[in-house]
Amino acid sequence: MRLYKTEVIVLRDYDLGDQDKIVIFYSRRYGKIKVIAKGARRIKSRFAALVQPPSYDSVVIHKATRSGLDTLSECKINYPFIGIRKNLLRFAYSCYLAELIDKFLEEEQPNSHLFELLVKTLFCLERIRKQNLTLLMRSFEIKLLKILGYGLCLSRCINCGKERGKIQFLFISIKLGGLLCGDCQKEDKNRLEVSKKTVLLMDYLLCSSLKKTVQQSFDKAIEIELEAILKKYLSYQLSREIITSRFICTSEKLELKHPII
Ligand SMILES: [Zn+2]
Repeated sequence: MRLYKTEVIVLRDYDLGDQDKIVIFYSRRYGKIKVIAKGARRIKSRFAALVQPPSYDSVVIHKATRSGLDTLSECKINYPFIGIRKNLLRFAYSCYLAELIDKFLEEEQPNSHLFELLVKTLFCLERIRKQNLTLLMRSFEIKLLKILGYGLCLSRCINCGKERGKIQFLFISIKLGGLLCGDCQKEDKNRLEVSKKTVLLMDYLLCSSLKKTVQQSFDKAIEIELEAILKKYLSYQLSREIITSRFICTSEKLELKHPII
């Protein structure tokens, strides 16, 4: 019997027949993996409560001998993130993090830095004040892009190489993935204007820990500009819309009507 152990975050799950579930994990040692959790749909199943997103578990998985999916053999919860699950807006954000990981990565591409980033972001998401949640998401996005090799070039014009300090008006090329100077922006129809303060915020988010970042507060207009840039850049890199953005919008509206925290 071939078994392997790893720590995982539950990204999502869906039903398989009347009894079982397919669970997508992001694991520390093996990257994204898809397994069958047998009997997980039954109320009394030992797996039922453990394979719900965004739980942080330690698992033992039985490797499939031929083609077919691996099977969950043992599962122990490390941290259930009850605070996230109990709050619709925080849960919507956790689904957003999971969607980014799920869409950016193919199966079995391990990256311990990304796993650590996801775990730390979830712990912050569970604990921080509601006002800091959006900044936490921007910080995660920027760090994720850097780790995966899609980081925006912010030090100079990505087209001609002119240093940022010598550029009067800054633009961002979504297609090229970096800053453009006033001359080069003319050739990019989809370029976005970006303020110097927003570029400084991106520098800050890249260099600072999540914990330190979420203790700061920044001008809301700058955060909104950054959100728009990253949203376009992430969708461009993924070549598709990020579906959970809509879930976040709905949750924000409900939160405004019925504030819980
Ligand atoms: Zn240029």
